Amino acid sequence: MAVTIKSAREIELMREAGRLLEIVHDEMGRIIKPGISTWEINECGDKMIRKLGCVPNFLNYGGFPAAICVSVNEEVVHGIPRREHILKEGDIVSLDAGLIYKGYHSDAARTHRVGRVSEEVQKLLDVTKQSFFEGIKMARPGNHLHDISNAIDDYVSSFGFGIVEDLVGHGIGTKLHEDPQVPNFRQKKKGMKLIPGMTLAVEPMINMGSKDVVWLEDQWTVITKDHKPSAHYENTILITDGEPELLTLH
Ligand code: MG
Repeated sequence: MAVTIKSAREIELMREAGRLLEIVHDEMGRIIKPGISTWEINECGDKMIRKLGCVPNFLNYGGFPAAICVSVNEEVVHGIPRREHILKEGDIVSLDAGLIYKGYHSDAARTHRVGRVSEEVQKLLDVTKQSFFEGIKMARPGNHLHDISNAIDDYVSSFGFGIVEDLVGHGIGTKLHEDPQVPNFRQKKKGMKLIPGMTLAVEPMINMGSKDVVWLEDQWTVITKDHKPSAHYENTILITDGEPELLTLH
C-alpha cells in the first residue's frame, strides 16, 4: 500500500478528528483514580466519542471487543477493559483511543498515574512522553522517516529502558493503519523521505526492563516478558513545510 499525502481538505478533517480525540482523552483522564474499573474508563471514552458525533475506530477492529485499549502496569498495549479489573494506588494505566470523524481517523495514547507512583515509574512515564517529542523534532521535510526512530532510540536508550520492537507506529488517514510503519528503535536504513501532507501516528512503547513482550491467551493483551511496567505515549502528527503539527495535542 502506498503512503498517502493528504489534501488541504483531508488535513482539515484530520485536524478535527484529532481535536475531538483530545477532548475524549481529557475526559477519560479526569476519572482515573484508585477504585475504578478499566471498563468504566472504556465506557467514559466510548460515550464521549459518540457524544461528539464520531465512531470509535478500535471497537471491533480485528475483533477487538471495546472502544478503548486500557493497559495496566506490565500490559504494554491492547489491554481489554474489564469490569473486574479495578485500578489501585500506584498503578499506571495506558489509554489508547481513536475515532473516526467524517471518514478520517485519529489515534493517540496517554499513560496515567493512579494516585502516587514510585520515582522509578514516574521516570518511565516522563522518558516515554519525552521520547515522542525527541522523535518528532526530526519529523520535518528533507529528513527521513527513520530519523524519527533513531532519535527516539537514542533518547530512551540513554536511560536504559527497553524499547518495544514488536509493535510500531503507522501512517493514518482514511484507515487507522496506513503505510509507512514508524518504528521506535534504531534502523539500519534511512526510510522514506518525509513529505508535507503525510500523517503519522508516532507511538513509543517503552518498558522499564527488557524490550521483550508476549501476547496473552486472549490474543490481544501484550505484556512485558519480565512483568515490569510499560508506558505508551502517542499522537497523530502532520508533516508540514516546517515543524510537525500535532493533531491530537494542543
Ligand atoms: Mg496507533
